[in-house]
Amino acid sequence: MPWHEERTIVWEAYREILRKGLVAGASGNVSLRLAEGSRTDLLAITPSKRTLHSINAEDIVVIDFAGNQVDGELIPSIESMMHIEIYKARPEIHAVVHTHSIYASSLAVAGIPLPPILDELIPYTGGEIRVADYGFPSTDDLARHAVEALKDRRVAFLRNHGVVCAAQSVEAAVALSELVERAAHIYVLAKLMGNPQMLPEGIIEVEKNIYRMMNSQFH
Ligand SMILES: [Zn+2]
Repeated sequence: MPWHEERTIVWEAYREILRKGLVAGASGNVSLRLAEGSRTDLLAITPSKRTLHSINAEDIVVIDFAGNQVDGELIPSIESMMHIEIYKARPEIHAVVHTHSIYASSLAVAGIPLPPILDELIPYTGGEIRVADYGFPSTDDLARHAVEALKDRRVAFLRNHGVVCAAQSVEAAVALSELVERAAHIYVLAKLMGNPQMLPEGIIEVEKNIYRMMNSQFH
């Protein structure tokens, strides 16, 4: 099977986000940018409408940036366009994880960005997590709005839908999905208790610089 190792990484990440409760049933999707000779327009992605228990690593689909199926039998994720547009816009990004985790999705439904509230957040996200304009699932609109909300950051909320995390590896994208869900949970609880406090402005700048420094290593 071509790209066996990469497909296994994607399949295991899908298992991981299900195990962590970040998605349910056949929702959510994971992809990994592939390199094949001179081709730089390929990705391995989870198939559409298949629960984890009904697929194996070989069912992970390989497609190109035009959406053409390159390898694999199943239909690729309906959110393939979003993954492709992120890879096209962000050369440093090698993996994308999309989840419907409860607290992050709650903020996406409420239209509330996640501000810089925790030290552990900004070095990995790049700053406040913005809420993308609404786009119907699977459409160009959803893909475009996700890219716009991400800009140079790693995470965006998809309005009335869920979350998308982009990183330099699948492992990092999964870890980011979990980190964001925990932060969203904490923020929702803090809002219920009163007036959540932001990090001091100077600290936010220091942490944004850490993000930029970590990011520049991969360009
Ligand atoms: Zn979704």
